[in-house]
Amino acid sequence: MSEKNLHLLSAQNNIYEGKAKILYSTQSPEYLIQYFKDDATAFNAQKKATLAGKGVLNNLISEKIMHLLSSQNIANHFVKRINDREQLIKKVSIIPLEVIIRNFVAGSMAKRLGIAEGQLLANPVFEICYKNDALQDPLINDDHAVEVLKIITKNQLEHIKIQALKINQILKKMFDEIDINLIDFKIEFGFADDNLQEIILADEISPDSCRLWDKKTLDKLDKDRFRRDLGGLVEAYQEVANRLKISINKIN
Ligand code: C5P
Repeated sequence: MSEKNLHLLSAQNNIYEGKAKILYSTQSPEYLIQYFKDDATAFNAQKKATLAGKGVLNNLISEKIMHLLSSQNIANHFVKRINDREQLIKKVSIIPLEVIIRNFVAGSMAKRLGIAEGQLLANPVFEICYKNDALQDPLINDDHAVEVLKIITKNQLEHIKIQALKINQILKKMFDEIDINLIDFKIEFGFADDNLQEIILADEISPDSCRLWDKKTLDKLDKDRFRRDLGGLVEAYQEVANRLKISINKIN
């Protein structure tokens, strides 16, 4: 499909509904529309809520981040934002791995290793979890992914790790400039549909998938506000958007 005709694409059938997003097919087999819902879930969907405006904020924040990553040659699925809730993306086959980079100790790592949250790590820590709801996305190691589950090859996993660490450098700098510490984040990758050898960044990068702490106050500006019943999630996401100079006319 030529670039100039991309504006003709619109949402057709709902082909996948996740916890916070819906994917729609379009008139082209190469492209999908990713729709951001206001729904939030945590603890493998045991906790649920609808938070008015969250989807719009995540759509715009993720757009800004994908643009920045594209400008720094990180291949990703983002094509363009269509409206407040939808973006056009390249269709990929998602690799069932949650790739996590941690700059500070927090969340499941703090719990698993019995370390207080907030400790700066000397070097970023790379983790992978097997995306499997029935198993509650268990933490796995490289051999589990390559030799046992056979999800990807050793070289592909190495490529993912290099990309994830590059993304971390770019995002850490972006957030540092707006007085936020990037504590950790989760990303997903997919095989490009038109080239199964090519692995590209997919999904979203937003306060739903990152831990973001205000540098001075240590206030949490991310989904932990929902997970930990702190309240003010939408206000916190709005604060991130404001600091990123994202203008949002009216959230609907
Ligand atoms: O819970 P945990 O400490 O392992 O989370 C690490 C990072 O990955 C956090 O930024 C969290 O928001 C993100 N994450 C996610 N989706 C999951 C699990 C974790 O976005 N299913």
